[in-house]
Formats: sequence, C-alpha cells, structure tokens
Amino acid sequence: MKMSKRQHQALINVNFDLFLPVDMVSPDFPEDQGSKPGEGRERIDLPPVRELYRLFDLFNRECFGGKLPLAKISYSDRMLIAGSYLPTTVQIKIGKKYHQVFPDDLEDTLKHEMIHILHPRHDRGFKVLAGKLGVSLKAKSHPDLRGSYKYLYVCPSCGRDYPRRKRLKMASCGVCSARGSFDPHFKLRLAHVKK
Ligand SMILES: [Zn+2]
Ligand SMILES: [Zn+2]
Repeated sequence: MKMSKRQHQALINVNFDLFLPVDMVSPDFPEDQGSKPGEGRERIDLPPVRELYRLFDLFNRECFGGKLPLAKISYSDRMLIAGSYLPTTVQIKIGKKYHQVFPDDLEDTLKHEMIHILHPRHDRGFKVLAGKLGVSLKAKSHPDLRGSYKYLYVCPSCGRDYPRRKRLKMASCGVCSARGSFDPHFKLRLAHVKK
C-alpha cells in the first residue's frame, strides 16, 4: 500500500511525539529560519568579536569602575533573544539574528549582559544599576519570538532558544543530548519569563 505524502508526514509526526522522551525537547524554530533564499532579509555585518571585547573593556572602565572580571564573549547564530549571560562560565552571548534586525542595540545589549555579571537576575540591584547607566531593563527578543511564549529557555551549550508556554521540568536540549534521553549536561536554563 502506498501512502500519500500527507499520511506519511502525519505518521512521522506521530512517531516524533511517541518516541521523543518527554524530558527532552526540540526547538520550535527550524535552524535555517530567516535565511531562506528569496526571503530578502538583509545580511548586516556585525562588528567582529574583538570589537565586542574592546567595548567590554571600555564599558568596564567607564561604567563599572573596572571591577568586572573578564567574560568570554561570543556571538550566537541561533539565539533569538538579544543576549544571554551564563554565570557558571562567565560567558556573554550576543544574538546575531536579533542584532541583524536591530544593529543599533548592540552596545545596550552588551551593557545589559555586563550588569548580569554583578546581578544575575533582573532584581532590584539590577534595575538600579541599569537605570543609572540608561540600559534596557528587560531581555529583548527578535520579532519572530514575540507573543509566542511565556517561558524562554536556552541551551547552555549551543545557545538554541526554547520558547514555551508552560514551565519545563528537567528538560535538556534535544539537539545536544545525542543519546536521545535527558542529559544533565545540556539541561535548559530559564532565561526569561514574560510578565
Ligand atoms: Zn537580562
Ligand atoms: Zn543545545
């Protein structure tokens, strides 16, 4: 018996739901979103990483009295949020996709993530310092993400976003967890809760 394309696809979907362990999740967004040929989204050249380090050094002296420890800074090709900070590895990630749409926000994002070195959460201390420096109080996100989630999780390894309507318990990155089951090394980190 030959299956129609639609039936075949339906079967694949069913299999996916049945065999993907509930505690391991996959991104909602296809990896190549935004770069399909003919879509016409402009490629904006963002400054090289060494420029981000230069700005870090400058802002550290100008805004933080030189007190911040040097962080590891990199771009993430996959993240749809503007930036993220991982306290365990003192690592700042700058979202490429967001800044290709809003290149002028780059310095604001970097300063926002630098404040997180001192204040990992958006708590009072964070808000006071952000207010003083004129920096965004909230995590910003790519237009593709807006309105579609309440909880935003990020894989600490590959930086993929996992926007979800419901809170996840013990979930790991479906791409990095190669063994096909929950892997604590790739446990998703809650990056943002929409108010
Ligand atoms: Zn933040
Ligand atoms: Zn991952």
